[in-house]
Amino acid sequence: MTNTPIRATLIPGDGIGPEIMEATLKALEALQAPFEWDVQTAGLAAMQTTGDALPPATMESIRSTRLALKGPLETPSGGGYRSSNVRLREAFKLYANVRPTKTIIPGGRYENVDLMVFRENVEGLYMGYEHFIPMDGDPEAVAIATGVNTRQGSRRLLEYAFENAIALGRKKVTVVHKANIMKALTGIFLDEARKLYKSKYEGRILMDEAIVDACTMKLVINPWQFDTLVTTNLFGDIISDLCAGLVGGLGMAPGANIGADAAIFEAVHGSAPDIAGKGIANPIALMLGAAMMLDHVKLHDKATRLRTAIDQTVNLDKVRTGDLGGSASTRVFTDALVARIAAA
Ligand code: NAD
Repeated sequence: MTNTPIRATLIPGDGIGPEIMEATLKALEALQAPFEWDVQTAGLAAMQTTGDALPPATMESIRSTRLALKGPLETPSGGGYRSSNVRLREAFKLYANVRPTKTIIPGGRYENVDLMVFRENVEGLYMGYEHFIPMDGDPEAVAIATGVNTRQGSRRLLEYAFENAIALGRKKVTVVHKANIMKALTGIFLDEARKLYKSKYEGRILMDEAIVDACTMKLVINPWQFDTLVTTNLFGDIISDLCAGLVGGLGMAPGANIGADAAIFEAVHGSAPDIAGKGIANPIALMLGAAMMLDHVKLHDKATRLRTAIDQTVNLDKVRTGDLGGSASTRVFTDALVARIAAA
């Protein structure tokens, strides 16, 4: 199994993407991970070279490999082209966004945080159904956005979350919603959660409920009261970044986009244009995304070795990038990590 080649699409991404991807590939090479990469482009890099932020060749590659490791992709705010990330989620029905958050470096603001966030990834307010209504000579006087949640879509994500939470030995799933105000849009998600839990999961794992605003406050005050959170698209986006902040920032947070037709692994953070090209980006989040990918293809031993090497590099060798309070460049960190992998 270990030596069987696994074809996968590789998208280096924009900004710091190519730098942290190069670091991650070095770690995977040191682990002798048997990926055969088909390198493709998306985001700004693809826009500049092909005029399409998600070119047909990239789509074709993922359709064939059904597996991808992706660097962050730049999306202009306001106008410009539509997010390649959202397009990928829609095209490959990547309905579950999985974001584990675990303390790696002790001594931060919060010790021993271990949270999982399951975010619905293709519905809700992210569908981009937006338009303006003109008024008093201003063509964009009123902005309107429509969110869409379906029972089937909610149930699919909730089922994935419950099944995985149980498989991972977790104790409790908190359903995060705003059904007191958005009674239809997030009420249907809560309603499906209650029904599903009663019919299938009661007695196998605990379930409780939290309103999103109170939930964010409770996460900051006492994150240990939570275990696994499951929620709709926009709330999940915000909550998972908040959780990343609890364990040292976006440089430590990986994400997986799992769907019926493909699985795409990435860092939660963006292309960090403010530090791109400086060689100082923290590659840990993308490396942890690669560890999730190794788990996904059942190379659990290599995934564990990668996580252990990251832990040893930052905690025993104390080699850390600037965002973690250290002074190591991406390259110095990567060399130290590769040495740890080789020594294990
Ligand atoms: P960002 O995550 O790129 O950066 C936020 C802050 O965190 C910056 O100060 C940045 O320097 C820092 N940071 C992020 N990752 C880091 C790392 N690995 N090491 C050290 N510091 C790091 O968020 P942003 O500035 O809001 O977004 C920039 C671009 O990225 C936008 O075009 C946005 O659309 C895109 N984006 C893409 C993804 C993705 O592809 N998954 C996710 C989020 C944002």
